[in-house]
Amino acid sequence: MSDKKAAGSKKTKETRSFQAETKELLNLMVNSLYTHREIFLRELISNASDALDKVNFQSLTKPKILEENADLKIILNVDKDKKTLSIYDNGIGMTYKEVIENIGTIARSGSKSFIEKLKAKDDVELIGKFGVGFYSAFMVSDKVVLISRAAGEKIGTRWESTGDGSYTIEKIGSEPRGTRITLQLRENCYNTGDPAEDFLNQYTIQNLIKKYSDYIRYPIEMDFYREEPERDKDGKIIAGGKTETIIDRKTLNSVTPIWERNKKEISRDEYFQFFKHHFHDWNEYADVVHFKAEGNVEYTALLFIPTRASSDLYDKNFARGIQLYSNHVFVMNDCRDLLPDHLRFVRGLIDSPDFSLNISREILQHNRQLQIIGKNLEKKVLESLKKLLKDNRKLYEETWQEFGKAIKGGIYMEYKNKEKLEDLVLFYTSSKEEGMTTLREYVERMPAGQEEIYYATGKDIETIKRMPQLEVFREKKIEILYFVDKIDEFLTQNLDKYDDRKLKSVTRQDLKLEEIIGDKKETARDKKESQKEEKGKDKAGAEDVFKKKEEKYKDVLAAIENHLGEKVAEVRLSKRLTSSPVCLVTTGSGVTFNMEMLLQGVNQPSAPARKILELNPDHKLFSVLEKLYKQDKDSADLKNASEILFNQACLIEGFELDNPVEFSQHMGELLVKAYE
Ligand code: ADP
Ligand code: MG
Repeated sequence: MSDKKAAGSKKTKETRSFQAETKELLNLMVNSLYTHREIFLRELISNASDALDKVNFQSLTKPKILEENADLKIILNVDKDKKTLSIYDNGIGMTYKEVIENIGTIARSGSKSFIEKLKAKDDVELIGKFGVGFYSAFMVSDKVVLISRAAGEKIGTRWESTGDGSYTIEKIGSEPRGTRITLQLRENCYNTGDPAEDFLNQYTIQNLIKKYSDYIRYPIEMDFYREEPERDKDGKIIAGGKTETIIDRKTLNSVTPIWERNKKEISRDEYFQFFKHHFHDWNEYADVVHFKAEGNVEYTALLFIPTRASSDLYDKNFARGIQLYSNHVFVMNDCRDLLPDHLRFVRGLIDSPDFSLNISREILQHNRQLQIIGKNLEKKVLESLKKLLKDNRKLYEETWQEFGKAIKGGIYMEYKNKEKLEDLVLFYTSSKEEGMTTLREYVERMPAGQEEIYYATGKDIETIKRMPQLEVFREKKIEILYFVDKIDEFLTQNLDKYDDRKLKSVTRQDLKLEEIIGDKKETARDKKESQKEEKGKDKAGAEDVFKKKEEKYKDVLAAIENHLGEKVAEVRLSKRLTSSPVCLVTTGSGVTFNMEMLLQGVNQPSAPARKILELNPDHKLFSVLEKLYKQDKDSADLKNASEILFNQACLIEGFELDNPVEFSQHMGELLVKAYE
């Protein structure tokens, strides 16, 4: 930043240049002709309102600050002769240093991406979102003058710029507290014949305030001038007399905060305007919860369910919580105890006369009234989410993508939340190509005979679909929930049952599969072998066939188990494989493979999941094992083959091999044997 003192101004006036980024933005503001230029007024009013909030807030601890002027408001002024429009607020104001910091520099990092957006599309609507709203003044002005005096200071500051890359700044004498911004309007911003773009027209200004800033809690006033013919004592117009200018000061906004108004009279757009500017979220909201509670504790609540999560929602330090007001006066941001953690994405406020203005956070924490309110808010928000799920599934699913993790976190953290939240949870499922399912819907689709809810875990749906454990489910068209979110499987520690049906991983050993696979077809080989036997087509028949196979291969399995040693808990035949040779399953309790891997990932090693190797007796590879066994049950060949199969199963499951070198050696040897 280059500072040079302007000559001949007693060294009090400095000319400074803007940062490169600010220059670029200003250049766009000055030289492009945007639609919606009118939003500059909304931005300046919003800054004024913030400044009033700040002084109001400071006065809670330093009441003196308001002594000189406690009537907080915004005053607009149109000067038709000078072609200026000014916006004055008696808010917190800025010191000399603050003017340089806040107006001369762009503090927030998002402005670069806003500049890119602007270049791509002529839409300035979003300017406020990027923390550069002030500069929108340059869309309509040849020159902007800002005069400010910070609360508690004696000296004011004057700042001026034409938006050409530099500004001047100087200290000036006593000024009223707060900030006045005077816009020297551009020629194409008044008397244009288009009233919507005539910013010297008081009615245009009035309409813009109604449209964008009606929700502002401080009065926005403007003087309306009208010429009246001169009258005599009796009130009669004096013929040929002079005219006099009558000034009517009007309040342009309704001042009553939106949450105090009757909700039947508030349009969605009005809610949206408020939501956008109050919570700085430029995306449509999904639903609004607005109600008045009477009884033990009296309060009004206005809560929004957003459609987009703020980028830090899942950070530990996310400033969660809602705002607290007392009789329309702001008391506190981020009041944590009003909503449980799993609803931390909700934005909103409550206004209650029962809270004093200088209540501290510590006192609030133990406040019973607050707890009562909190319970009620949670109930209402959950109702609203359930309604959204029922009435607008598409929007709910979109919203779920953003906030689902928070809700799932609620179930994971506390068992008592299970019942409240379980009907809100969505999962991907094998029964739908697109979209998700609730548990209720899953249960309703369950065929007679299926007793459990099955899920499979993996990093994405494609990976899950390749899991060998799923083969029999696919063949029998049994629905599988796809758990693709890391937290999903942990959820089952509390969400262990739904509607009295257990949630089970397809990798568990103890699935109630009999009903499902009871009529699993016999292979040609089985048929040949049991040709002479009488075999029923019923389930019991198939079960017998399986039992017979188990009996027949008992020794083969024992030999393989012996070769694998500590690596496996058991080797057994599989009921769930149809085309794959092997898979791993785990015992009915304890962690699953997926959990084991996740826990290792966060350095929280658990007792490892017990690995059971399941072999598909109908697969060619099994015949190979059987052949090797018959040749020599203690041979290195059988040992190597067992290990290769076991390692394959591990790889499919996503485990890293204990000894990848050995594995590749064995594979290499096999290739040599086969083709040399
Ligand atoms: P944002 O409002 O998002 O911070 P702006 O570009 O609109 O971004 O304003 C930049 C900063 O300038 C504000 O954060 C505030 O500190 C300061 N500011 C702007 N207008 C006023 C005002 N009327 N009174 C006091 N400070 C103001
Ligand atoms: Mg702003």
